[in-house]
Amino acid sequence: MKKETKAIRTQAGKSIHNEHSVPLYLTSSFLFENAEHGRALFADEIEGNIYSRFSNPNTSEFVLKMAELENAEDGFAFASGMAAVFAGFASLLSKGDHILSSRSLFGSTHQILTKILPKWGIEFTYVDADKPEQWEDNIRENTKMIFAETPSNPGLEIIDLEFLGKLKKKHNLILNVDNCFATPYLQTPIDYGADLVTHSATKYIDGQGRVIGGVIVGNKELIKEIRYFARQTGPSLSPFNAWILSKSLETLSIRMEKHCSNAFELAKIFEGNSELELVKYPMLASHPQYELSKKQMKMGGGIVTLILKGGYDRARNFIDALNMASKTANLGDTRTIITHPASTTHSKLTDDERKSVGIYPGTVRVSVGLENINDIIEDITQALQKSK
Ligand SMILES: *Cc1c(COP(=O)(O)O)cnc(C)c1O
Repeated sequence: MKKETKAIRTQAGKSIHNEHSVPLYLTSSFLFENAEHGRALFADEIEGNIYSRFSNPNTSEFVLKMAELENAEDGFAFASGMAAVFAGFASLLSKGDHILSSRSLFGSTHQILTKILPKWGIEFTYVDADKPEQWEDNIRENTKMIFAETPSNPGLEIIDLEFLGKLKKKHNLILNVDNCFATPYLQTPIDYGADLVTHSATKYIDGQGRVIGGVIVGNKELIKEIRYFARQTGPSLSPFNAWILSKSLETLSIRMEKHCSNAFELAKIFEGNSELELVKYPMLASHPQYELSKKQMKMGGGIVTLILKGGYDRARNFIDALNMASKTANLGDTRTIITHPASTTHSKLTDDERKSVGIYPGTVRVSVGLENINDIIEDITQALQKSK
């Protein structure tokens, strides 16, 4: 079956009611048939649900779909994208280990690397997207994992997955890719050699701004360790959110097609606009990594970054002048969302740190929704005029 079909047809087993659409299994635990059955389940001699912190039919179905879409062997679902990111580090790394990571990262991932993991003696080095030679130059004896976010949030920097796949093989490292912006519909890092793919399912996977969730899929030996960690420490996804996310995957392909075509149209229309210093989108020929984007992504994704003339104040006035686009911190929703990273999601960084990850005072991130593209363009156009 093709991926679009798998995302729709993969289903947990039916109940006695023979339902067509998978029901919600709101149960904290599952019955043992007898003492021996309970013993065998706990001994991992047979497969089955024990307790919803470990597994549940809804979370299993969601994980199975994600693994199929990402060409992965196995996976585990988490209560949030950040729980997934953290578990990927905490379950596989020990004191003295070193992570090599792309510099341009989701804000909380940056906090985990810089503030939380160092408490347990886990070190990191950042690599700049425009200096790929830094990857190999910074590998140390204790380097254990490569972490990369591509495209990055919100700088839309692209990291070469084929290059990282070769590098990780040469140095026997774990390659872990945050694939949240692309989704498996646009890019499958495992095909380039990634061992793990980490997602915030909150974004395009749900796609409708309803639930928080996360997932890691990948190599089954690594997932075994991640599952052990999660089973003991408890960051598991709730069955309700898993049920929502699994249904959402049924429409991922058509949503991504529309997000991407709307975003590309918006990027093309505003490129060269006299009120903007820059329009950044992976599939614009002006993007510094245009060729790489074309090579590893099916389409450019749903995020367009604009740099407004007039900097910080202009960007804030622009946000206030929007009539339709939502002012909120999420992305990947059916509704267009526009945020000002310098004063919100990336406000904890210094000016220099923001610049190094491609965020300027006048940068706004447009998460292009599924509305009619002309309504989105009209709103941005009038807000640019009004905020002059
Ligand atoms: C949102 C996001 C996360 C964190 O996910 P949550 O579900 O909000 O915890 C991680 N990485 C990227 C790229 C994101 O956009």
